[in-house]
Amino acid sequence: MNLSFWESRYINNSDICVIGAGLVGLISAIELRLKYPNAKIIIAERGFIGTGASTKNAGFACFGSIGEIKDDIDNRTEEECIDLISKRWVGLNRLRALFHDDQEIGLEFNGSYEIFTNEETEKANSLSNNLEYFNNIVDQAIGEQDVFAVQENPFPFHIYPNVICNRLEGQLDVSELIHSLHKLCAKNDIHILNGFSLDSYIEKDNIALEFSNGISLETSKLVFATNAFTKKFFPELDLIPYRNQLVITEPIDDLDWKGTFHYNSGLGYFRNVGKRILIGGRRDLDMEREQTTDFGITDLIQDHLVEFLQNTLKVEPNVRIENRWSGILAHGDTKAPILRKISENVLCAVRLGGMGIAIASNTAKELADLV
Ligand SMILES: Cc1cc2nc3c(=O)[nH]c(=O)nc-3n(C[C@H](O)[C@H](O)[C@H](O)COP(=O)(O)OP(=O)(O)OC[C@H]3O[C@@H](n4cnc5c(N)ncnc54)[C@H](O)[C@@H]3O)c2cc1C
Repeated sequence: MNLSFWESRYINNSDICVIGAGLVGLISAIELRLKYPNAKIIIAERGFIGTGASTKNAGFACFGSIGEIKDDIDNRTEEECIDLISKRWVGLNRLRALFHDDQEIGLEFNGSYEIFTNEETEKANSLSNNLEYFNNIVDQAIGEQDVFAVQENPFPFHIYPNVICNRLEGQLDVSELIHSLHKLCAKNDIHILNGFSLDSYIEKDNIALEFSNGISLETSKLVFATNAFTKKFFPELDLIPYRNQLVITEPIDDLDWKGTFHYNSGLGYFRNVGKRILIGGRRDLDMEREQTTDFGITDLIQDHLVEFLQNTLKVEPNVRIENRWSGILAHGDTKAPILRKISENVLCAVRLGGMGIAIASNTAKELADLV
């Protein structure tokens, strides 16, 4: 498709083109603006808005539930685990520092808890008995003491009688976060082009980009912030896409608890959104089918989530499910993001895992340092 002279002047020949308007794409562009005040920076996004994980997630501002940290230590080195917690913590604070106050992203601290089903007694006891060890790991990572504490279950849930509280995790409003990041991009003169799905690129003197809408553009530097959808371009990357499904209830008048909750080592999670309950995850119930870049919902996972709402969270069976959706995230053999120069002028910052809200800002800063 031929662009007019004016259209071309507006969007073509950028200094930096970021592919993907998720958290990493948006925040990387903002970080790049700080580094290059006069550069022409564009973000090309295939969807009408970011269409991957960042606009679909649960809004936990978290850096590691005790169960997940235990699993990580069992499967990785302590150093790796400490480094990851530290990066998430730094990232979370960097994200907050982008805005005047936490309200701009709807960030609230209403308590964060790991809960255990009655079948997980052994695990609950083991984690509770080793609290000092895990507090020490977190202290080494972020310099905060006694982050985890065991509490008697104060919630109306049908679960093991103790919960483990994390005093530093919060919850945010994903729509506010995305809205505020878009405003920040506009303020920083970053053009976001929607409906631009990159098909291919060729590096010559410049980098020639071919989009599926028929438009061709050129850029000097190219950044892939395409997370779970990156294998199309770089099949060799250690990156596995996973779908995560969610449901949200209608407002429940007598809902009298707030907070974010992890169960099954973080594979299941739920929170309040005002008077609603949002619950999601449990891809482990159907690992093969959930290993996909396709959006969609399935009876198996949806039924589990609704059953958990009713039988464990003790929500009345007649409470209406207001919305059901899915998002796609990316994992690999290690949990750290892939931050890499593919060539001198092509870079990628992908595979954000399940805690991208926390780690995205850190990754974006590291990416900007590389460009
Ligand atoms: C259901 C769900 C719940 C989650 N809950 C939480 C949570 O509570 N807390 C937390 O910290 N993390 C959570 N996560 C993880 C977190 O959302 C991600 O780690 C993070 O959003 C990843 O950001 P990203 O920018 O790397 O990827 P994405 O948000 O996926 O962005 C990638 C973008 O690239 C675009 N794109 C892909 N291919 C192309 C192409 N060829 N051309 C143009 N554009 C392209 C996509 O449309 C997309 O917008 C959750 C994830 C999911 C799926």
